[in-house]
Amino acid sequence: MSQNVYQFIDVARIDPPKKPLKVRKIEFVEIYEPFTQQQASAQADRCLDCGNPYCEWKCPVHNYIPQWLKLANEGRIIEAVELSHQTNTLPEVCGRVCPQDRLCEGSCTLNDDFGAVTIGNVEKYITDKAFEMGWKPDMSQVEWTDKKVAIIGAGPAGLSCADILVRNGVKPVVFDRYPEIGGLLTFGIPSFKLEKEVMINRRKVFTEMGVEFRLNTEVGKDVSLAELVNDYDAVFLGVGTYQNMRAGLDNEDAPGVYDALPFLISNTYRVMGLESGPDYIDMKGKNVVVLGGGDTAMDCVRTSVRQGAKNVICAYRRDEANMPGSKREVKNAREEGVKFQFNLQPIGLELNDKGHISGVNMVKTALGEPDEAGRRRPQPVEGSEHVLPADAVVMAFGFQPHAMPWLSEFDVALDDWGRIKAPAQAEFAYQTTNPKIFAGGDAVRGSDLVVTAIDEGRKAADGILSYLEL
Ligand code: FAD
Ligand code: SF4
Repeated sequence: MSQNVYQFIDVARIDPPKKPLKVRKIEFVEIYEPFTQQQASAQADRCLDCGNPYCEWKCPVHNYIPQWLKLANEGRIIEAVELSHQTNTLPEVCGRVCPQDRLCEGSCTLNDDFGAVTIGNVEKYITDKAFEMGWKPDMSQVEWTDKKVAIIGAGPAGLSCADILVRNGVKPVVFDRYPEIGGLLTFGIPSFKLEKEVMINRRKVFTEMGVEFRLNTEVGKDVSLAELVNDYDAVFLGVGTYQNMRAGLDNEDAPGVYDALPFLISNTYRVMGLESGPDYIDMKGKNVVVLGGGDTAMDCVRTSVRQGAKNVICAYRRDEANMPGSKREVKNAREEGVKFQFNLQPIGLELNDKGHISGVNMVKTALGEPDEAGRRRPQPVEGSEHVLPADAVVMAFGFQPHAMPWLSEFDVALDDWGRIKAPAQAEFAYQTTNPKIFAGGDAVRGSDLVVTAIDEGRKAADGILSYLEL
């Protein structure tokens, strides 16, 4: 590392430059330019190499951050990428989409006075650069066993489980109902945050490592769970949470009202040029109101902008400081022309004389006493009811576990919210109440983050290896 221990004073934190707004507003491509080698090296050099790195503890997969920052600073990319893969299956994805301000960068020692080290962007740089240089995981030392594991779901949890299993000589066969791997990385998160080529590249890399993918294959429809339980040594469930939450308003099923995920998925099919798929939901020329204040809401408003909506409003029932979405994405949405209206709660949906949505009945809110989670509850302000005109309304209130009737005969217990019970502290980590079946990711913890799904997939694979006595 450079000899200048005061690099963090001389060199300011920089984020990679963004594409010009006029391009951003019409294109479904990542908005950030990549770091140059010089920028990545200089930014990595800002790390103080703290004796007790908080960033590492706050990162859910406990990446060896100071160590790979040092290697990146020295241009030792292959060593850096090997090290980052010791703890993370998809570092190039986490570098792009983790809410770093709440995780690693949020706990960087330099944070308040000098600006945190740009950990996420260096992590992305290392992996992208290594792939560019032709790097592939080295499988030459793997001793193959005769064991095979069926993995249901090619999202980050399933892929991370497959990664650890295959590196330990166990054959993973991954089933997914979608035509491409990635789960929400491909079909939920839009390409202005994570381009589709990233997961397409990963599919090739995993396939070369020995992971087999059976895409366009839905368990419970195209193949039964009974077959998988019989034919494989263990099964991993990484099926996510796909039940859209609703507000319980009148007219929620009227034309012009959409759930967030079908809207984003239909757009992804269009962006990827996939032929068969859900009907495209088109916001061109429309007044769009998105209800909700999380990352999904930000993805919906920014997708609407790129589709050519006339006006896009994000309405949220608390104030800006209490929004759950990443501050970075709120800023990006604002720059792209999205208008935010805070302290507004929907109380009904207005229809025109053709029965189509024409507006959202809103009431203003004031923040009252804190709830169980410590967040102040929004209280309606009497007499503040009014209508926000809309040609299209998107409900982005989050997701709950979806029903899985195909699981019911297999003695896999669910909790009161429908999440699969698979404790980290079980005898074999992430084992369900059926000893042969393991689970992880959103299906177990409720909808959360890419990096927590990766963490659980990897730990469940360790549980499976112990269960298989390997
Ligand atoms: P998923 O990614 O949901 O993958 C589950 C997979 O299982 C899917 O591919 C599905 O097709 C498959 N499957 C389900 N049932 C079956 C079946 N019966 N047969 C075959 N296949 C099946 N997190 C972040 O960290 N940063 C972000 O910026 C971010 N943005 C988000 C934006 C949106 C719009 C959404 C919805 C989520 C976002 N998240 C973000 C959350 C993150 O994407 C999820 O927490 C993560 O993908 C969960 O991983 P998973 O593997 O558990 O499930
Ligand atoms: Fe930060 Fe996420 Fe990378 Fe961990 S995985 S270092 S939290 S960006």
